[in-house]
Parts: sequence; C-alpha cells; structure tokens
Amino acid sequence: MRKHLGMAKVRCICGDEILLLPDLKEMGKAIDDHVDMHIKNLKAPRCSAVKAENLRLDLIAQVFRLISQVEEEENP
Ligand SMILES: [Zn+2]
Repeated sequence: MRKHLGMAKVRCICGDEILLLPDLKEMGKAIDDHVDMHIKNLKAPRCSAVKAENLRLDLIAQVFRLISQVEEEENP
C-alpha cells in the first residue's frame, strides 16, 4: 500500500500525534502550537524551553523523514 502524505503523522514523546500537512507553513504552525502547549504547562510532561526546543527539532526531523519516505515510494 502506498503511503500518502495526507495520512502520515508525526508522534511527540508525549504520545500525541500531529497530522502531516501538505503546507509546510501550516505544519510548522501545528508543531509550534503543540510545543507551546508543553511550555505553557497545558500538557504533561511539562518541558523547559530548552527541552521544548528539542521536541520541536525532533518533530521537524520526523516530518523530513516522512517526506523523504513518501518521495522514495513515489520515485523508486
Ligand atoms: Zn507533545
């Protein structure tokens, strides 16, 4: 079965999943919103700003990994 970007998700260490959006700007905003929730203590586990930044980088890395996987499947 082919993987489609529209159904792909990235997973935060807190267990939340964020749907991968085709628009990178929107995707960046979705990640920012999620990381903000950690910083503002709306979610456990609460993170320091430094840890939250690491969360953000991890989520972004997952986005790029997913995109490259999809491209490989579409152009074998
Ligand atoms: Zn999270």
